[in-house]
Amino acid sequence: MHVLLVEDDDLVASGLEAGLTLHHCTVDRVRTTREARAAISQFGCDVVILDLGLPDGDGMGLLDRWRQQGVATPVLILTARDAVPDRVRGLEAGADDYVLKPFELDELVARLNALVRRAAGRAVSEVCHGELKVQPDSGQVFLHGNPVTLSRRELALLEKLINARGAVLSEDQLKDGLYGMDTSVESNALNVHIYHLRRKLYRDVVVTERGLGYRLGPPPESAGANS
Ligand code: CA
Repeated sequence: MHVLLVEDDDLVASGLEAGLTLHHCTVDRVRTTREARAAISQFGCDVVILDLGLPDGDGMGLLDRWRQQGVATPVLILTARDAVPDRVRGLEAGADDYVLKPFELDELVARLNALVRRAAGRAVSEVCHGELKVQPDSGQVFLHGNPVTLSRRELALLEKLINARGAVLSEDQLKDGLYGMDTSVESNALNVHIYHLRRKLYRDVVVTERGLGYRLGPPPESAGANS
């Protein structure tokens, strides 16, 4: 899960970054509404955590503007303001969820996962592709019932392909989900992750569409067919 964190408080932000990374998330952190606007237009993310009191403006105004522009990325407002009118205003402005500081990290992560699932049209926390099962909340992957250990980026790549439900994703779209803005991406890094996915899972899990990108392949063959 690729999270855009819009938060000007360094202490809150660094704690969240560390915690979310432990929960298999890729986190990009920005401090202002201006940086947030640039980030969302430069790369796709799965979900936004938005603070309301930002140095150059109000998070609510930013959200309002995004929704008017058709930015559909789920947004979770994270704020110390606990007045009911703020909460109503946030939901009216197009927020998908609302969490008050101080918060429990586990609860926040569960809510983020729920938002991403909802956006992808899924209501359950386990994604099944035949005998390939992914539990995004825990980061666990099972093939024919056996656990498979994937790196954080391999898992993010697999989730991205599954969420696209067979649609072809370009290299740029896939890279957007895997790396933060500040991480320089080696040109062959994506190929390396895809190589590992095929090796750890099965050859056809990722199908190359030459000149276009990649898509999720057919589900794994039954265990009996492999033996
Ligand atoms: Ca703030």
